[in-house]
Amino acid sequence: MWGTHRESQPPPALASRPDGTGAVAEETACPLLLVGEQVEDLAGLEELLAPLEHPVHKAVPWSEDLGELLDASPACLIVDARRSWTVGIETARRLLAHPGARYIPVLFLGGHSCGEADLLRGYAVGTVDCILEPLSPDILRLKVGMYLEQHRRQALMREALERAGQAEAAARESERMLRTLLGNVPGMVYRSTTEEPWALSYASQATLVLSGYTPEDFTQRRVTWGELIHPEDAPRVREEMQEALATRSPFTLTYRIRTRTGEERWVWERGVALLGPDEEARALEGFIFDITPFRQAQQERERLHEQLEFEHQRLQSILQQLPVAVHIAEAPSGRTLNFNAQAESILGHPMLPCTCVKDYSQYHAIHPDGRRLAAEEYPIARVLATGKPHPQQELLYDRPDGSVRVLLINAGPIFDARGRLQTVVASFMDITALKRAETHHTFLASVSETLASSLDYEATLAHVVQRAVPDLGDGCALDMVEPDGSLRRLAVAHVDPVRREISQELARHCPPRLEDTTGPGAVIRTGRTELVAEVTEELLVRYASDARHLELLRGTGVTSSLIVPLHARDRTFGALAFFYCRGGQPRASRHYGREEQRLAEDLARRAALAVDNARLYREAQRAVRLRDEFLSVASHELKTPLTPLNLNLSALSREVSRSCSGAGHPEALQRHVDMARRQLWKLSTLLNALFDVSRIAQGRLTLEVTDTDLGEVLGEVAAWFSPEAARVGSKLWVEGEPHVPGRWDRLRLEQVVTNLLSNAIRYGAGRPIHARVEARGDRARLVIRDEGIGISPEALERIFGKFERAVSDRHYGGLGLGLYITRSIVEAMGGTIRVDSRPGQGSTFTVELPRRQE
Ligand code: ADP
Repeated sequence: MWGTHRESQPPPALASRPDGTGAVAEETACPLLLVGEQVEDLAGLEELLAPLEHPVHKAVPWSEDLGELLDASPACLIVDARRSWTVGIETARRLLAHPGARYIPVLFLGGHSCGEADLLRGYAVGTVDCILEPLSPDILRLKVGMYLEQHRRQALMREALERAGQAEAAARESERMLRTLLGNVPGMVYRSTTEEPWALSYASQATLVLSGYTPEDFTQRRVTWGELIHPEDAPRVREEMQEALATRSPFTLTYRIRTRTGEERWVWERGVALLGPDEEARALEGFIFDITPFRQAQQERERLHEQLEFEHQRLQSILQQLPVAVHIAEAPSGRTLNFNAQAESILGHPMLPCTCVKDYSQYHAIHPDGRRLAAEEYPIARVLATGKPHPQQELLYDRPDGSVRVLLINAGPIFDARGRLQTVVASFMDITALKRAETHHTFLASVSETLASSLDYEATLAHVVQRAVPDLGDGCALDMVEPDGSLRRLAVAHVDPVRREISQELARHCPPRLEDTTGPGAVIRTGRTELVAEVTEELLVRYASDARHLELLRGTGVTSSLIVPLHARDRTFGALAFFYCRGGQPRASRHYGREEQRLAEDLARRAALAVDNARLYREAQRAVRLRDEFLSVASHELKTPLTPLNLNLSALSREVSRSCSGAGHPEALQRHVDMARRQLWKLSTLLNALFDVSRIAQGRLTLEVTDTDLGEVLGEVAAWFSPEAARVGSKLWVEGEPHVPGRWDRLRLEQVVTNLLSNAIRYGAGRPIHARVEARGDRARLVIRDEGIGISPEALERIFGKFERAVSDRHYGGLGLGLYITRSIVEAMGGTIRVDSRPGQGSTFTVELPRRQE
């Protein structure tokens, strides 16, 4: 139907590519539009145009679809006006008025009747060309083909124009964007020459903010960038830039510039060289940012970092120099943050890795009662738990070397500005020495008090032994020298009752003796302390005298021993032994050392002094008693010869009167005189003895040495004593060599023999007395033996002392001076005197003298 027909092909259009750039439509896609009054005419035309192989749309002039068909931009509009030129003109005018038809070439087909005027009318409408009848199909196709070609070219041109337009718009957009970006980047953007002083051919607006100069100041060469670079940084910038250029690599620089106002700023530059076709650098392009604030912040950060580092170093240095140990833990974990060398030195091992409170249980702190501290009982843990300071606490610490130290620990919290617990600091010190000194001081003070409290030194010493445990050892024993030279265990103390028993059993099984090479006997003999820091099994084996002894020694569990002598005024009379034993009290050391030795020796000195004082006191008391006895005996002894002397003198006086009257008897006179002389001799003997004592006391006992015969002296004195011996019923035997010559003081020698013989007679109980002299090489020996009352062991030593007597003054006279004087004389002559005696079985006095002495 005319006006509504439409070719099935889609209307020609410029197809769009997915990229939006557009593309030229296929020529066949742009239809030819045939408009004419007669449909069959149009069909004929279509047929004629078929060889062009181009789509054709056909429409009648009054078709309603014409507008739409024109919108499809037909490649050529062919108006068939062969039937009516006027209708054709009108149709063409109407079609060309349509906006989509403005550039469509219009080809008129006219009839035979078309004249020149018609053609002019047609061209006036805008007709491009006219073909009049008779239609030549070839000309028609050529012309239509030409319009199709023209349309194709126009389409290409339009597309090119469209693309150019799009490219221009994109370029404008890019430029706009670039300007926006360059105007808003925080630094300046530049293009410069490649050589110093780097003149800028482009500088973004930010240049003004950065340098104080406008972009024009640079582009018009009023200033160059190189002039702004700080002189100190310029050489480095130059060098780095040259290197970047040489290696064709981008460069990054940091340096200072001086702004127009002279202000110094730090800048960061990143750029690259633009290379020409010859690979030569033509220009530099890049960004420059003001990093002054960053730099200042960085410098501030560095300063703070340095300060922090300094503070840290200072803290470390203070920590290390502190005399106390310090351990710092993080809150709330308890992780170890810091500690000093003293901490490790006091604990005796490296600090242990602690990341939490539970880890504290790796340490070896113990309560004073020996219980191990639980992790949460450590002072740091307590502060972590409570946030409160933990005041001074004394704890023991079991070191890996086996010693136990006393530690005084303080711990306190450190809070941050918001009051949150941040760290806990614990400080501790080793007060073992202080504690020990305190213990020792208290111990010595208390012992001194005990020692001073009584003169019963045995009980006092036993008390000291008890008191020494456990301060000075797990065990303590005291051995004293008996008068007969044996040792007696006076007291034993031990922290362990079982071991105390073993110690006593040990003393019974193998009593210490003065001859021992080690132990209390040796200490007493030598007067020197014996310290065995470590008692080893090997030592025990060497020391033990038999299997039982070894077993007992092992049973004591002794690990270290210390034996000190009790020594006073050149005499060692006992030994105090101290022991550390396995499983004893927890201690700083299980081995005795110099400090314990000093303390023990101090204690022993005090004890010995106390013992000596007690002895001196006793001796003083005895001396007083002796003196009193002596005075009473002396007065009696001196009076004894005076009474008979008085009687004799009265009798002598009567006899003299009688003799004067001639009635006297000369024999009686002589007898009285003899009696008086004997009493006077006795008196002078007593007085001589007293003089001798005072001489000896003053060191004035002088000897007059001459050639003397001891045998002769004995014979004479024995002869002199014979009557007296006979009087008491004793037979006096003089034996041995009659002549033993030597060089002695004869009178003193007589005195010695006299004293010994008179004692033998006096205490000889009327039994025989043997006196004997013999020569023994360069020595002479005098032995006086009786079978009398004898002497008790206790008195044996002391009877040679001044005023010493071993008999009751009721039964025996005597001043107790004879043996004292005798010993003094014998010793003055370089000899010795000793006595062997047993009560009731007599006594033997032996004098040994060198035969030659000057
Ligand atoms: P005295 O004048 O008292 O005898 P001595 O010094 O001679 O003084 O003797 C001291 C003491 O020694 C005597 O008191 C006596 O107890 C004891 N003594 C001395 N000789 C003997 C002896 N032969 N037998 C027993 N006792 C003796």
